[in-house]
Amino acid sequence: MRQSQLFTKTRREAPSDEVAKNAQLLIRAGFVHKEMAGVYSYLPLGLRVLNNIVSIIREEMNAIGGQEMVMTALQDKELWSRTDRWDDAKVDNWFKTNFASGGEAGLGITHEEPLTRIMTDHISSYRDLPRYAYQFQNKFRNELRAKSGIMRGKEFLMKDLYSFSKDEEEHAAFFAIAREAYKKVFQRLGIGDRTFVTFASGGIFSEFSEEFQTLSDAGEDTIYLDEEKGIAVNKEVYTDEVLEKLNLSKDTLVEKRAIEAGNIFNLGTRFSEALGLSYMDEEGNRHPVVMGCYGIGPTRSMGIIVETLSDSKGLVWPESVAPFKVHLVSLVPNDPTVVGYADALYEELMASGIDTLYDDRDVRAGEKLADSDLIGIPTRIIIGKDTLTTGEVEVVNRATGELKKVSRENLLASFSKVVALEAEAQAEVQADAAA
Ligand code: ATP
Ligand code: MG
Repeated sequence: MRQSQLFTKTRREAPSDEVAKNAQLLIRAGFVHKEMAGVYSYLPLGLRVLNNIVSIIREEMNAIGGQEMVMTALQDKELWSRTDRWDDAKVDNWFKTNFASGGEAGLGITHEEPLTRIMTDHISSYRDLPRYAYQFQNKFRNELRAKSGIMRGKEFLMKDLYSFSKDEEEHAAFFAIAREAYKKVFQRLGIGDRTFVTFASGGIFSEFSEEFQTLSDAGEDTIYLDEEKGIAVNKEVYTDEVLEKLNLSKDTLVEKRAIEAGNIFNLGTRFSEALGLSYMDEEGNRHPVVMGCYGIGPTRSMGIIVETLSDSKGLVWPESVAPFKVHLVSLVPNDPTVVGYADALYEELMASGIDTLYDDRDVRAGEKLADSDLIGIPTRIIIGKDTLTTGEVEVVNRATGELKKVSRENLLASFSKVVALEAEAQAEVQADAAA
């Protein structure tokens, strides 16, 4: 894409009422627009990142047997009353509204109730189990605190997967598989090294739910991490009794700030019993279906990546989620030979399958380089006046600042290698999913 055509512009200052680093940087770089506190639009660069995050999560959910669907945002009051989750005294973050024709509806905060009801049409026998369904959908929550930028939205994207199993044993087997899939997701998002399984409250059969907490000073949670074992305990369940159960010792736990990137829950039969989702076993006996739910916020993940990987100059995207692979920056916009050279290189990169943002704008070199730092594309290729005489371009790694002079032939050869490796990795993921 030619940057001269991109409708978004960078800006020096974030809005003065924006306190979160992630939103400040994303707004300055033109990735998101703040509509209201906790409500953000995703602009072209931001949507590219979000779509990359979604693709990674989708691949990993498909690989463990998840079937994608999408449910409605509008929620039926009557359904939620049956599980006692409609009353504001029980659930305090609903956005509720009235139908012109009469009656009330809410905007979905989560989707256990509607999916359980849907499944009563499709699950009736042991032969129909287990099943795993998931969606990507905007959730709406009337969050009180909205000081964490896109990490805590009132409207935000969630991937929610739900599992339906015959019994606790079948549930536990899938829960373990989902845990591993989540680890893969966070690895691929570039935050795996600082994201830890954390025992928290809210389990139904299993006593604990498991959160995936990413270490960050911007986090709203306090966890106690055993660095050796790579597991943590959320402050909300941090008691001597719990530590003993988990075979953890206070001496080896360090207190950390963290942000919940995802979590996985055993729901037991709470929803299936309330909404009548049951199956007949081989002997003809009826049992309630055992459920689990598994959430990740792709928009929050994007915020976490920004909080943890960006630097004083701006955003730093991992290769896997970056809006473009390459930022081609031509520093001499008014010299037709240099422009011709840069145009040709841009065409060649695109033809080789290398997603490139091409800064062809007629602005000062200093401004281009500052913008390029702010936008944070992993690899920058700089074309200057001497590129034509030396035949070399400068290649800068955004994350490390490492600078190499590379001849044009070597440049394309090295990228072709990257593209080939990526295609291979992609094929592997697809083979996994098929298996
Ligand atoms: P938190 O404890 O941070 O309030 P939660 O426990 O309410 O989150 P879930 O209901 O389990 O979260 O939602 C699943 C996932 O959705 C979370 O792990 C997180 O990644 C994401 N998420 C939850 N609330 C928000 C929000 N307000 N904005 C953005 N992402 C969110
Ligand atoms: Mg939580």
